[in-house]
Amino acid sequence: MPGTSTTEVRCQKCGRVFEAEVIDHIDMSQDRDLLKRIKSGKINRVQCPKCKKVHYLDRGVVINFEPENLIVLYDPSASRPEVREELMRDYRSVVMFNEVLEEVAQETEFKIVSDSAELKKMVEQWAKAHS
Ligand SMILES: [Zn+2]
Repeated sequence: MPGTSTTEVRCQKCGRVFEAEVIDHIDMSQDRDLLKRIKSGKINRVQCPKCKKVHYLDRGVVINFEPENLIVLYDPSASRPEVREELMRDYRSVVMFNEVLEEVAQETEFKIVSDSAELKKMVEQWAKAHS
């Protein structure tokens, strides 16, 4: 099961504010059913309960490419270098203060991806290697 949380979304069409369950964290080896969605880059799809408009949310999703030692933060809004740097700093500071994480991080590559085409390629490679 992917890691999820609840967030408030404002409908771009009718303005209705509604709560939606969104995916924060995906573990590739356990969430294979999500491969298609990850490949499309449209991971967080929500629908307005009033007017039925579909939204794709531009939020960051952490994807664990297990069993490979690779963790990817897919964030469509992180295309600017300064945003990436900030995210990278956040990651490092979280890892530094946690012994367990620090150990994991030494063996794990952390990558920030904002381009859905790049993410798609990574997922395809992973799926080929672990089918
Ligand atoms: Zn609506």
